Amino acid sequence: MRIFQSKVALITGGSRGIGKAIALAFAEQGANVAFTYRSAGAAAESVVKEIEAKGCKAAGYQSDARSFDDTHKVVDAVIKDFGRIDILVNNAGITKDTLLMRMTEQDWDDVIDTNLKGAFNFCKAVSRQMISQREGKIVNISSIAGVIGNPGQTNYSASKAGMIGITKTLAKELASRNIQVNAVAPGFVDTDMTEKLTAQQKEALLNMIPMKRTAKPEEIASVVLFLASPASSYMTGQVVCVDGGIVM
Ligand code: NAP
Repeated sequence: MRIFQSKVALITGGSRGIGKAIALAFAEQGANVAFTYRSAGAAAESVVKEIEAKGCKAAGYQSDARSFDDTHKVVDAVIKDFGRIDILVNNAGITKDTLLMRMTEQDWDDVIDTNLKGAFNFCKAVSRQMISQREGKIVNISSIAGVIGNPGQTNYSASKAGMIGITKTLAKELASRNIQVNAVAPGFVDTDMTEKLTAQQKEALLNMIPMKRTAKPEEIASVVLFLASPASSYMTGQVVCVDGGIVM
């Protein structure tokens, strides 16, 4: 018996990177998986096929996490298509890195709207359904940049620190409803997001990591699954750093 058999997981940004690894890991454990993506339709279609090949139901929904209306429409569609939502993973995110002196208002708005408002949109839309189901698990993908800051990421660090605020507050608001809310704060993970760093930036990063290597997306997914599983039944409002030892 797989541990998420017949559960329904909704993952934002499931077409690539960490979100895709999370989607596949849930399917590996028997969950039916709905996920959103912004524009990568072909990539989303192949993730659907990979999940179905594991014997689970899957659907990808094109939707912009920044849009309150879009989010509510997607959540309604997932409930119609899958019947319920047991697990929400707020994973969709972007970076627009530059020093504050060069950061434009647009850089700030894009990152805050996608990462932080996106998480608000989905928490609000999905928690209503979880309250009616009398159970649920929410996992927010933050970042160590939201815990310790990172030069060149004022917008991103603020968005990820904001997600920690959402996590702790919602954990308190929803604990009595049998809904647990936790966050994972990854360090540096091999995805398209970090691919764009220069060789010099990558070397500086490696020097910061006690384990001297970056993470595979699957190493983040395994912690997300733990926080969505009965194994973490007495945890809420926590931020788990998965970072090779940077934050300790
Ligand atoms: P990625 O490879 O760039 O993938 C980003 C995903 O988010 C894609 O599925 C993308 O959809 C989706 N997305 C972006 N903007 C969206 C929007 N407005 N609406 C809906 N979906 C949207 O990123 P990643 O590295 O896997 O990162 C995933 C999460 O982990 C992010 O929240 C990121 O901040 C966090 N994180 C990453 C690292 C790292 O080192 N990689 C470290 C710490 C935290 P499309 O494919 O359609 O564009």
